[in-house]
Amino acid sequence: MPNISILLTLKTITRFVFFIPPVFILSACIASTTQVEITPKAVFIIVDGIPADVIEKTHTPFIDELAKNGGYARSYVGGEIGALTQSPTVSAVGYNSLLTGTWANKHNVYDNSIDDPNYQYWDIFRITKNADPTLNTALFSTWEDNRTRLLGDGLKEAGGNKIDYYFDGFEHDLKRFPHDNSREYIKNIDRLVSQESARYLIEQGPDLSWVYLEFTDDVGHMFGDGQELSEAVNLMDKNIGEIWEAVKNRERQKNEHWLVVVTTDHGRDATTGKSHGGQSDRERTTWIATNSLNLNQNFYNAPAIVDILPSIINHLGLIVPSEISDQFDGHTFID
Ligand SMILES: [Zn+2]
Repeated sequence: MPNISILLTLKTITRFVFFIPPVFILSACIASTTQVEITPKAVFIIVDGIPADVIEKTHTPFIDELAKNGGYARSYVGGEIGALTQSPTVSAVGYNSLLTGTWANKHNVYDNSIDDPNYQYWDIFRITKNADPTLNTALFSTWEDNRTRLLGDGLKEAGGNKIDYYFDGFEHDLKRFPHDNSREYIKNIDRLVSQESARYLIEQGPDLSWVYLEFTDDVGHMFGDGQELSEAVNLMDKNIGEIWEAVKNRERQKNEHWLVVVTTDHGRDATTGKSHGGQSDRERTTWIATNSLNLNQNFYNAPAIVDILPSIINHLGLIVPSEISDQFDGHTFID
């Protein structure tokens, strides 16, 4: 004898379906057959030493387009002035604050010599590989020390091998990139690094990647504020445009949801724009541009460079051991 409750259920379903207009049934069928999993991917890009006021007055159509549906905000580096977290507005210090989500009093990188980084504060690649070793990682960089020293890729104490594909070290290739006083070779390496990251992103779609471009800071040190720096920023924007195009291509072709974050590691001094390292407003003031559609209030409330790591983690949906996440100095700006 059939179960009466099943009969009742069948009857209810039949009646329910009967009253649904056919077009709804059709669209529901289409929705159920096209439902697919969307894979989150992230790429963060550090472009060196560009003050917020400079990027805001320079023509940067590609970054503008990238941020059009996401956002652009002024942000800061340097920790809290006068507190334990105060950190020099120096390149490697800033990169490592992004990579670890902590200030220099924890990650222990106070200058570009990177003598004794504290690998107990895990970087974003270590966190990613720990959460899921099958996730693919990549690094494209004009400065090799980012991989070998800051990330300590391959070192046991830094979590072993974390970068599946890297493209760096060209500053040591004097044959291909002979060093010149005007730093044209760095401009050329930036170009190469950008092209390769665009190619690799399109072809391989790594789950997490870092692109680092240096030339803007070199021009800042040589010329300070002015036409040369604006031109270097404009050129950087074209490089970013190529990477952004790659991301758009991936999203068109695959079921992927990409987060792109572009930022800088410090501003420059207010007098000449030639130096940085101190705690003046202009040296501390940075900026973040992103395509994220899920920005929360934190993004519009002067985020810090240490907020980028928890934001990427949120986007990728990574599980982080609490003893690591408890040490983060930042908070996500992505819901
Ligand atoms: Zn720098």
